[in-house]
Amino acid sequence: MTSINPLEFAFIGGGGTGEMVLIYLAQKAKQQKLNANSLKLHLIDPNGFGSGGVAYGQCDTDHYLNSVRSEMSPWDEYEFHHWCIEQGHNDNVYEFNQRSDNGLFLQFKCAQVIQELRSCGAEINEHHAKADYRKTGNNNLYNIIDSDTQNIITTLPSEQICLTDGYGPNTRFNDFKNNPNNGFVDSPYHTEKLENLLLEKPDAKIVHIGSNAALYDSANSLKRLNNRLGITQTKPLTIVSPFSQAMGVRDVSVEQVEKTLSPLFLKQGNPNNLDELHSKLLAEFKTDEGRRGRSDRRIGLDSMKEIGSYLKTIQPEHAHALLKETQIVGSICRNATPLPQFSHDALKTLSPEYKVARLCASDIDETPDGHFDIHINNQRIQADIIINGTGYGRTNSQIMTHLQNDGLAEIDGLLGTVTLENDKIKGAGFYYAGPATHFGVDGMESFAAAAENIAHQITKLLQPIEVPSLDPAKQTAFIPAQL
Ligand SMILES: Cc1cc2nc3c(=O)[nH]c(=O)nc-3n(C[C@H](O)[C@H](O)[C@H](O)COP(=O)(O)OP(=O)(O)OC[C@H]3O[C@@H](n4cnc5c(N)ncnc54)[C@H](O)[C@@H]3O)c2cc1C
Repeated sequence: MTSINPLEFAFIGGGGTGEMVLIYLAQKAKQQKLNANSLKLHLIDPNGFGSGGVAYGQCDTDHYLNSVRSEMSPWDEYEFHHWCIEQGHNDNVYEFNQRSDNGLFLQFKCAQVIQELRSCGAEINEHHAKADYRKTGNNNLYNIIDSDTQNIITTLPSEQICLTDGYGPNTRFNDFKNNPNNGFVDSPYHTEKLENLLLEKPDAKIVHIGSNAALYDSANSLKRLNNRLGITQTKPLTIVSPFSQAMGVRDVSVEQVEKTLSPLFLKQGNPNNLDELHSKLLAEFKTDEGRRGRSDRRIGLDSMKEIGSYLKTIQPEHAHALLKETQIVGSICRNATPLPQFSHDALKTLSPEYKVARLCASDIDETPDGHFDIHINNQRIQADIIINGTGYGRTNSQIMTHLQNDGLAEIDGLLGTVTLENDKIKGAGFYYAGPATHFGVDGMESFAAAAENIAHQITKLLQPIEVPSLDPAKQTAFIPAQL
């Protein structure tokens, strides 16, 4: 068997998180003046590494970030801001940019760091492929394969494989999604189908499933499409979700002076029933002592940061009961990720009506002409168009499912997250960064620490440029690329 280069790595998934690992890697190599001559990277993504992934790559100009600029480049707080100014945007670091602006920034940044890493000696191979793995005869060696052609991309030990494959597919309403002739829009980002449906029936009755961030992307799309198609009279938008209220408005002006504070009431005593837990959490938000001058967003973020470890300290049945109470955990998440005012305003123009239910495919009947009868709490609602805004799975990507089936990934039954040991998947030992480890609120900032640690582990293996390369032909001085 040929020997494995200990500096060869495969990165599977080039959405926001995979790009962040690469950016941190280039940043550290540059700062520490490291020789990357033997570093060989395989960057694998069917949509191209650096495409922006689900949040920044598949959207269009209607869709806005719910994070401000300074939160979108965690490796350098002002880099996205400066890039925006260079592109002709205004000089406001607290601006909510379009999602596609961040997608373009990530594309630019990814191309830049690939060039930088190449200029300091690294070999970088980009593969437009959907990767999977096959076990080999050797316990810890895996063939990384292109799952369409079954061709082997490379063979590596688990500690040289980095999984950043993000969210798994949204499969909840598969029964309806593949019929081009019905009124089912499987994602808020399928605006072309939505536009065609509205052209056909401008006064369509629309039902939106889900009331989290994606609802506001749908609202912005509907507002733009109504304007473009000259639709002035619309039927009220029905929103079906386990929550009866909209998300909060993000007021960045009050956030700038806030500090992170540990939840005060959550950790007091060991509550024995759900009501007690509920009142403790409410006290964080509703009393002066709990609030300590913080915005709802800050309290939500602070509580969410600690609730995962807190849940493990209480009796399992209480922890499970709490997690099932969508109104409790959900309202913490919703407070932690409020949205820009203009997205709320867009929703308001659609006269939203909320129906509280967790809808399943079996609650929906498709009529022969492609419309729908929806059964909600003993009521029947008719819809011409259904928009699916229910999001994606965190631990159900193709590879994660494969790892679970092979007994190579352990899922935390309580939190529904994959268990890690030093940023490696417990069982398989692949590095992982992204939504599968994350309970509650996620975003670029929340995945940054794992992305940075993986880059740190890789750069620890590189030598400083003063150390002569074994291969004089490849030896290049480290030349920092111009930013
Ligand atoms: C609707 C929505 C809005 C959001 N808004 C924000 C926001 O405003 N601000 C914020 O900070 N965060 C936001 N987030 C969270 C955001 O998704 C994360 O910040 C981050 O972008 C997640 O990136 P990721 O790379 O981990 O996952 P993904 O974006 O899912 O990217 C995974 C990548 O892996 C690739 N891939 C998957 N399987 C394979 C495979 N087998 N082989 C090769 N490649 C594979 C995919 O093609 C994709 O490019 C939002 C999330 C959603 C869903």
